[in-house]
Amino acid sequence: MSGLIKGWCPGAHRPMAAADGLILRIRPPAGRLSAAQARGLARLAARYGQGMLALTTRANLQLRAIAPADHAALLAELAALALLDADAATERTHNIVIAPFWREGDGTPELAAVLAAGLAGLQDLPAKFGVALDTGPAPVLGAISADIRLERAEGGALLLRADGAPAGRPVRAEDAVAEILTLAAWFIASGGVKNGRGRMRAHLAAGHLPPGQNLLRPAPAPASPVPGTRADGLLAAFSLGDLPAETLAALAELSPGIRLTPWRMLFLPGLAALPALPGLVLDPASPWPRVFACAGRPLCAQALGETRLLAQALAPHLPVGATLHVSGCAKGCAHPRPADITLTAANTGFTLARPGMDDLAGLDHAALLRHPERVFGQS
Ligand code: SF4
Repeated sequence: MSGLIKGWCPGAHRPMAAADGLILRIRPPAGRLSAAQARGLARLAARYGQGMLALTTRANLQLRAIAPADHAALLAELAALALLDADAATERTHNIVIAPFWREGDGTPELAAVLAAGLAGLQDLPAKFGVALDTGPAPVLGAISADIRLERAEGGALLLRADGAPAGRPVRAEDAVAEILTLAAWFIASGGVKNGRGRMRAHLAAGHLPPGQNLLRPAPAPASPVPGTRADGLLAAFSLGDLPAETLAALAELSPGIRLTPWRMLFLPGLAALPALPGLVLDPASPWPRVFACAGRPLCAQALGETRLLAQALAPHLPVGATLHVSGCAKGCAHPRPADITLTAANTGFTLARPGMDDLAGLDHAALLRHPERVFGQS
């Protein structure tokens, strides 16, 4: 096996080493799985992993606990399912998040395919540099990390916006990919990449102005999506984004096309109901889409504390609308943005951070498990 890295942003070609084996990130083309791909992935998770897939906030899937000796065989199986980029370099630039509520025949998958091919030609882009294709009736990906956004203005015009700019400029659908690539090339040429890193928002904040007249503002965003039934299908959530292989296999039989979302939910177009399945959450009031926890101990070698059991104990007590992040160390992999309530493992217990309040350090894991409600200021 080659290309093994330690650190964040794993791929399939370049997995991440964790305490329990390799982590492979799978970036399905256009963010969707056919029934055959879903069935196949479920089989691979059961055969090579622990029977579980993780949904990520980049609308990707992860397999973990893969034995290094199985890596090559797993790559061959992913390639056979058309779920593998051509090589590690192509995979590195394949960072496209798609608003999942597109309609069959509207050209979104084709747009994503042409864009992925174009981005593969810009190898100087940083690994985290990403594009949001947010071309539904109103932007839904505004809170999702991206460097370039293709979205709608009020009235329906398509607009191209550099992340961090309040407004963008109108583009024609047929020119959209070329315009995105031109903006990405401008980012490189104007010095946005330093030591292989860099994000558009920080580049603009440093005083660089994106080219063109950027006067068109995006339409107001609707409320954040919640699990359950929509007019055009179902959003299926899972606790901590853990998707059991058996559930994915069952969904493959029920839905001809499964779409990944950056909210760690699956969108199942056209479905109005689902039977009870392991791990499935359809309650719109469920806290799970608002609860984030990294692998923590013992799965991550850098972890200073256990996270997932703690998050499960805390979730039922989470106030309505609040976000909770339980992190095994200060790196904060699971939720890079601030959360309403953050518990971070340190050398001497957990530190609790809440807005407007002093941090509380040295909290004991066992005591938190015994009285999770106290984290939220209840007795
Ligand atoms: S945040 Fe969690 S997963 Fe990331 S390095 Fe720290 S312990 Fe590991």
